[in-house]
Amino acid sequence: MSGQPNYRPETLAVRAGQERSPFGEHSEALYLTSSFVFENAAQAARRFSGEEEGHVYARFTNPTVTLFEERLAALEGAEDCVATASGMAAIMGLCLAHLQQGDHIVASNSLFGATVQLFSNILPRTGITTTFVAQTDPAAWATAIRPETKLFFVETPSNPLTEIADIARLAEIAHARGILLAVDNSFCTSALQRPLELGADLVACSATKYLDGQGRVLGGAVCGSKTLIEEIFKYLRTAGSTLSAFNAWVLLKGLETLKIRLEAQAANAVRLATWLAEQPQVARVFYPGLASHPQHELARRQQRSGGAIVSFEVKGGRAEAWTVVDHCRLLSITGNLGDTKTTITHPATTTHGRLTPEARAAAGIDESLLRVAVGLEAVEDLQADLERGLALIGG
Ligand SMILES: *Cc1c(COP(=O)(O)O)cnc(C)c1O
Repeated sequence: MSGQPNYRPETLAVRAGQERSPFGEHSEALYLTSSFVFENAAQAARRFSGEEEGHVYARFTNPTVTLFEERLAALEGAEDCVATASGMAAIMGLCLAHLQQGDHIVASNSLFGATVQLFSNILPRTGITTTFVAQTDPAAWATAIRPETKLFFVETPSNPLTEIADIARLAEIAHARGILLAVDNSFCTSALQRPLELGADLVACSATKYLDGQGRVLGGAVCGSKTLIEEIFKYLRTAGSTLSAFNAWVLLKGLETLKIRLEAQAANAVRLATWLAEQPQVARVFYPGLASHPQHELARRQQRSGGAIVSFEVKGGRAEAWTVVDHCRLLSITGNLGDTKTTITHPATTTHGRLTPEARAAAGIDESLLRVAVGLEAVEDLQADLERGLALIGG
């Protein structure tokens, strides 16, 4: 497969990177080994010095992890990829490999909660600071740039309000000032959006979400040019937050069905969003695939579909939102997303519960808001499940 870059994404998803062992296994092998043996002392020395290519120790590389990295790079259209223990390890690795004391980040103010914590509370200990700006206002990003700004970090669509950032526009602004643009592509994945083609320098993702797609393992990755990824690899082999071989193997098999899963889940999401918008107890629906979404046109240009996350506000507040959650028998009440099983979350008291009420209001997360990460069940069954609670709210 290597050296044949012309295959289409569907083919790459099931084939890219595979090199069979002498046994000729058809399915990808799982190499559960923490270290590798050498033919002699001289080879060991060459491997350790990097003079000879090859595996040394699984904190550096492992064949199953490498295979996952090659396949994901092929799907993102990237030169290279490095896998990490989780999505947060990917973001931390990206930052610590490319930034140093005194550097500054401009980031969207609607990032994933743990990323906000990382940028606001952990990175400042190393002298790296962040200015948060509006996801949808490129001018605000330009204004926030300082001489020491080294990184733009954005996640689009945002969680849970599905606000869309203009990746190509942010890339232009960043590159004019020699700044790197990193995009967290966990929500769309390469199946629906390819940030590198739009000008991003680095794509980070939580593989825990759609790449696994079945809620089994944690993982993450960063894709980009060889030079940029090499720096992250050097950081990781020392810092140790590398992906386990077992998780890489699970994720590798997840990649094979990523596109058909996401397409089917997104098709379900459009139907559910359209239905929700018609319900008298629903005040507002947030879904980029609906014409009513403020950035619907941008989403159409930038993404292959609206994705599978649908958020909506019920008429009322926390009590009404909780009524809908508590009457679900099918939808899983959980904070996770990206699963084939549909999940429902009340962001104000869970994923965004640690924000101050003021910060939550600034982020537009109302007590009446619910987030549904749509899975593969029949839409009619999802509707019936939500309807049970909605029926108890006065329209
Ligand atoms: C879940 C998530 C993360 C963090 O990933 P983990 O695998 O949980 O560490 C980062 N960004 C986004 C958008 C996520 O949804």
